Amino acid sequence: VMLAADRCGVLAIDLGALGENYRRLAKNVAPAALAAVVKADAYGLGAVQVSQRLYQEGCRTFFVAHFIEAVQLRPSLPQDAAIYVLNGLQPGNEERAAAIGVVPLLNSIGQIKAWSQTAGRVGRTLEAALQVDSGMSRLGLSPDEVCELLVNPGLISNIEVTTLVSHLACADEPANPASARQLAAFRAISTAFPTLPVSLANSGGIFLGGEFHGSLARPGIALYGGAPVSDRDNPMLPVVRLEVPVIQTRTVPPGTQIGYGGTFTAKTSIRLATIAAGYADGLPRSLSGRGALYFEGQRLPIAGRVSMDSITVDISALAEGALDLGTPVEVVGKHQTLEMMAADADTISYEILTRLGHRYQRRYI
Ligand code: PLP
Repeated sequence: VMLAADRCGVLAIDLGALGENYRRLAKNVAPAALAAVVKADAYGLGAVQVSQRLYQEGCRTFFVAHFIEAVQLRPSLPQDAAIYVLNGLQPGNEERAAAIGVVPLLNSIGQIKAWSQTAGRVGRTLEAALQVDSGMSRLGLSPDEVCELLVNPGLISNIEVTTLVSHLACADEPANPASARQLAAFRAISTAFPTLPVSLANSGGIFLGGEFHGSLARPGIALYGGAPVSDRDNPMLPVVRLEVPVIQTRTVPPGTQIGYGGTFTAKTSIRLATIAAGYADGLPRSLSGRGALYFEGQRLPIAGRVSMDSITVDISALAEGALDLGTPVEVVGKHQTLEMMAADADTISYEILTRLGHRYQRRYI
């Protein structure tokens, strides 16, 4: 892969693999429908490119977190694609949302009232999803608020509720009993809305079994090739490959200190390569002294601290001259999965993906 001269690496995003992941998950949840969570710019991979590809695969329901994300995505998708705003609308955004055809999740009685008043003002019924809290305690109507709604059905009379939504807190841990408790709570609430389609499962939830699929599953990370379930083989195809070129090599004698703070001292004579991306490009500083990059399958330990724009790795294990200037080194790919890098950085694949910077050459393949 040729690197554009003004870029610090190549971020390849495999839309074919994304499509295959969509088809695998759709098959898994059928006859339930499959939506796509494309918030945070589709986990950093490009909401427009990702959503348009998933639309081609048959996806008609998309979830973003913030209204601004829905505003930006709306013109890129045909009108028969629904865009839901998970966090709901901030006061003042309702009329614009109604005008452009963006659908909020209603997370509180206050949001229900505001949306209902908007429907009154625009003179037509407006769609919304209703989110209830089944145990995560983050967003959605509390059990008391659900009761309030049931005794005051007028609150929602000019809203067409399309879906009853809740979110699982521990779906990636199959042995965690919290998911079964949340399913039971969600089912108890949904009996009060017997005609409504229901949506509970994120990526992990899909792999908890059919009873979690409801009418509509909403994966994010699994579409992008991240492991949906911890401590288990990843059944998804990788979507992301990140390669960063070598910008300098050197050999240093024993006793040499390397990088900011001099935190790493060469015990013997070692060879080093400095590569052209750092924490400003989303490579976590917490990889300092512990993570690695790869070249042709060979692990290259990070020597010293991750800098803003570069990382130095120990290449002593490679044949002399193996890494010329400009040679791409693997950050994420065949040998280093997102999960390996996330584990070294004490974080999760989601954070690695959503922080990938904008100085790479992005290639959609
Ligand atoms: N549903 C909601 C409400 C979410 O906040 C998210 C993302 O965190 C998802 C679904 C998708 O989750 P995942 O990426 O684990 O599939």
